[in-house]
Amino acid sequence: MRHIAIVGSGPAGYYTAEAAVKKWGEDALIDVYDKLPVPFGLIRTGVAPDHQSIKAVSRRYEKTAIGDTVRFAGNVTVGEDITVEELTSLYDAVVLATGAPRDRQLDIDGAGSRNVIGSAAFVGWYNGHPEFAQLDPDLSGKHAVVVGMGNVALDVARILSKSQHEFAGSDIVAHALEALRESNIETISILGRRGPHQIMMTPKELGELLHLDRASPHVDNADLPPMEDDAFLEPGVRKSVTLLRDFAAIPENIHGEKPIAIEFDFFANPKTIVSEGGKVAGVEVERTKVEAGRAVGTGETYSVPADLVVTCIGYRTSPLKGVPFDERAGCFANDEGRILPGLYCVGWAKRGPSGTIGTNRPDGYSVIDIVDQDIGGASRKRGREGFDELAQTRGLEIVTFRDWQKIEEAEIAAARKGAPREKFVDIDSMIAARGA
Ligand code: NAP
Repeated sequence: MRHIAIVGSGPAGYYTAEAAVKKWGEDALIDVYDKLPVPFGLIRTGVAPDHQSIKAVSRRYEKTAIGDTVRFAGNVTVGEDITVEELTSLYDAVVLATGAPRDRQLDIDGAGSRNVIGSAAFVGWYNGHPEFAQLDPDLSGKHAVVVGMGNVALDVARILSKSQHEFAGSDIVAHALEALRESNIETISILGRRGPHQIMMTPKELGELLHLDRASPHVDNADLPPMEDDAFLEPGVRKSVTLLRDFAAIPENIHGEKPIAIEFDFFANPKTIVSEGGKVAGVEVERTKVEAGRAVGTGETYSVPADLVVTCIGYRTSPLKGVPFDERAGCFANDEGRILPGLYCVGWAKRGPSGTIGTNRPDGYSVIDIVDQDIGGASRKRGREGFDELAQTRGLEIVTFRDWQKIEEAEIAAARKGAPREKFVDIDSMIAARGA
């Protein structure tokens, strides 16, 4: 028997569990830990609530989760309730699949002003992550600025611009839906420090901006490189740039039909956040040019009005005591997933915040191959039994997958008409909903 602990129940965690079941069948017991009482990590709290088809991948993880050899143990914070060292003493392999839940900081003057919010917090707020449910962003102003030109920036801009009707069928949480109903935002400026050819937004997601009820995307023709240069682009980027060209060709009268403008501001590097009375009022931006793929300042500056700023500039893994950390990459220091003997990482905790959900599948399978090479066959470790003993001494309240299914039933029962669920947004309500 092998004893495997996976820390984190998001895509990276469950693909790793799936790979372990495939590799060892009944010869391994796999425990999946999560800090929250509910599983699926980024699928629940990161993927946009209006992207239900992406969220549907959790059905696949469910199949793994209900297998005989796999156990979900929610409401267990590794690093607080149990240390990584304790886990490695109990299990043959501990795989950290903790993702990258912290915002990369926009390190400029004024970044601490009120209503300057990182995407981890903002996305967590509209997705009902217990840590961010109380965020209460101020949407009373007309101007929002979104910093970064990746898919998270796109999610944030789209969510800020959708009408209530467009959220039908989504699982956006009630507090966010209500706040968005009262929102006065009319302009959403998306700032990219480089140009159209360096855009990180993918075509499918970018194309959604053409189908919004109330908002239309604005691109300045002057920012677009000569069309023939697109031939050198990788096909995905080329498609995105073609969409940007489509946006630039939208006639004024069509823009006029939509009350919200989503403006793409390229070659725009934020330099200072300007505040009034402690609250953000604008962003000072330096115009850049791109040289050998890098943004270089031109010295020319201008201001963009801003009543709300959401920075979408990437994420970092949360460090854990005793686990070597790569400060530059913002994830655990590792060699193809190996951190220390018996300790591994996978997904964003291994390679930083990039790729799609599907990228985690080969990641999970490859880390299990490595674990297999390292640990061999039978084990003398105590695994689940040892953890349960320790959990009892510490009075830990473990939430099982069966408990989660009861929580989910209660969320489904509470859903507004047409929505898949109404999420609990605090830990106590989640735990209470599992019943006796
Ligand atoms: P991302 O794709 O890496 O984009 C980050 C953006 O922030 C880039 O435009 C980057 O510009 C910019 N940036 C970084 N540091 C900056 C700074 N100091 N000042 C100004 N701009 C800065 O990251 P992401 O949007 O957080 O997405 C993370 C991953 O999740 C990606 O793989 C993404 O595709 C995926 N995702 C997918 C979906 C989906 O619906 N398919 C949704 C959300 C996220 P530079 O390029 O110049 O560095």
